[in-house]
Amino acid sequence: MSERSEAGGAGSRPLTEDRSEEADGGTRTRRPRTAAAITAAVLFTAVGVVLALTTPWNPLPGDVPGGRVRPDPALDFSPAEIARSRAFDSAINPPAYAGLVVGLLVILALGLSPLGARLIGLVTGRVRRRFLRVVIASAALATLLRVVGLPFDIWGESVLRRYGLSTQTWPEWLLDQLRSLGVSWVITTIALLLLYAVVRRFPRYWWTGAAAGGFVLVVLVSFIYPIAVEPVFNKFHSLPQGQLRSDLLAMARRDGVPVKDVLVADASRRTTSLNAYVSGFGSTRRIVLYDTLLKSPRPQVESIVAHELGHAKRDDVLYGTLVGALGIAGAMCLLYLLMTSPWLLRRAGVAPTGPPGEPREPGERERGGAADPRSIALVLALVAAGTQLGAPVQNLVSRRIEARADAHALNLTRDPSTFVSMQHELSVRNISDLKPDALEYLLWMTHPSGPDRIAMARNWARMHHVPEPPPLRRAP
Ligand SMILES: [Zn+2]
Repeated sequence: MSERSEAGGAGSRPLTEDRSEEADGGTRTRRPRTAAAITAAVLFTAVGVVLALTTPWNPLPGDVPGGRVRPDPALDFSPAEIARSRAFDSAINPPAYAGLVVGLLVILALGLSPLGARLIGLVTGRVRRRFLRVVIASAALATLLRVVGLPFDIWGESVLRRYGLSTQTWPEWLLDQLRSLGVSWVITTIALLLLYAVVRRFPRYWWTGAAAGGFVLVVLVSFIYPIAVEPVFNKFHSLPQGQLRSDLLAMARRDGVPVKDVLVADASRRTTSLNAYVSGFGSTRRIVLYDTLLKSPRPQVESIVAHELGHAKRDDVLYGTLVGALGIAGAMCLLYLLMTSPWLLRRAGVAPTGPPGEPREPGERERGGAADPRSIALVLALVAAGTQLGAPVQNLVSRRIEARADAHALNLTRDPSTFVSMQHELSVRNISDLKPDALEYLLWMTHPSGPDRIAMARNWARMHHVPEPPPLRRAP
C-alpha cells in the first residue's frame, strides 16, 4: 500500500464525474474512492454468493410421506400456555422495540448532526493526546447510549421478573449492566483506536487497513470470546463425572466430533430459562450447558447436546465468524466512502480538511475529516445503521443453520419424541414466542420457533419411518 505513488494526482482531469468531491478532493481522492467502491462491491458480492451457496436453505431435504407437517402451536401447547406466551410477548415487545428505536434515533441524531462532534469536543476539549481523545470519546458515547437505553432495559427486566424468568436482584442486574458496558467499551475502543491510527497514517487508503484490520479483529474476538469475555459474566465448571457426562461424551464420539469436555455455566443465578451453546473455534471451542438444564431428564439433555454437536461438527461458529469478518471488511470500505464525503462530514459538524494551523504529530499525515476524533459519533451512527440493516440477513441465515443442527440432532439420536418434548419444555420454560410475526422474525428470531422445530421433528419421523411423535395435547 503506497500513499506516495498517488500523491501527484492528475490535476488536469475534469471534476464532473464525482460532484461530491470538492476543492481539496477532486481526482486526488477519486481514485481511492473508486477502488474502495469496487472492493466493497466485490466483498459484499462474495458474502452474498457464499451465503447463497452454503446456507442450508432446506435443512431436511426430500419428500415427506403424507406431506409436510405445518407448525401448529395448538397441537402441543395448552390454551393456557399459548395465552401466557401471547401475554409475555405483548409485555416484552414495547420495551424491546422502544429501546431499539430510541437507541438508534439517539446515535443517528448524534452522528448525523453536529451534536455528537460538539459533545466529543466538550469532553475532550482539554485533552491533547489524540489516542486519549479517542478513548474518552468512545467511553463517553458508550456510556451515554447505555444510559439512554437503561430505562428500557429496566422495563424489560421488570417484565422478565414479573414472569419469573429472572432470578437476579436489582443490584446484581445493575452490576451485569456495568460489566456489559465495560466489555463493549473495551472492544469498541480498541477498534476505534486502530481505525483512527490507520486513518491518520493513510488518509486516502485507510480503507485497505481498516478492512484487513476489521477482518482480523472479528476473527480474534470470536476466538478469545469464550476465555476472555464469557468468564466476566458466568462461572464455568466441567460437567461432573457420572452417567450424564459419560453418555454425552460417548454420543460425541459416536458422532465423530472430538469433544474434550462439556462445561456447565452458573446461569441459574441470572435466569430460569434453559439453554446451551457452542462458542469459540479451534482450541477455544466449547460446548456449554446452562445449569438450569441439568434437572431435565437425561434423554432431553442428550437431545440438546446432539443439536450443539451439529454446530460443532459443521464448525458453524468458525463459518459465521469468517463470513461476518468478510462482511465487516466490506463495511469498512463502505465506511471509507461515507467518511470521505464532505457533505456527510459537514452534517456531522466535522471540517473535511481539519482545523488549520494545528501541528501534526509524528507519523501523522492527516488530522481533518475522518481523522478528527470528533467524527467518532458519525462512525458509531453508521456502524449502528449498518448493523441494524444486516440483522435480518444474519437472522435468516442463522435460522437455517439452527434448523440444520436440529436435523443433525434427530439423525444422531433418532428420537423425535424426546426432541419434541424437549422443544416443548424449552418453549414453555423460556416463554418463547409460539407464533412470531414477520417483523419479529426479521429483527429478533435467530432460531426457528418452537412449533417450527416440533413440526420438523414430525417431518423427520415421517421421512425415516420412525413413529411420529403424537400431539402432546389431544385435540379438543
Ligand atoms: Zn443452535
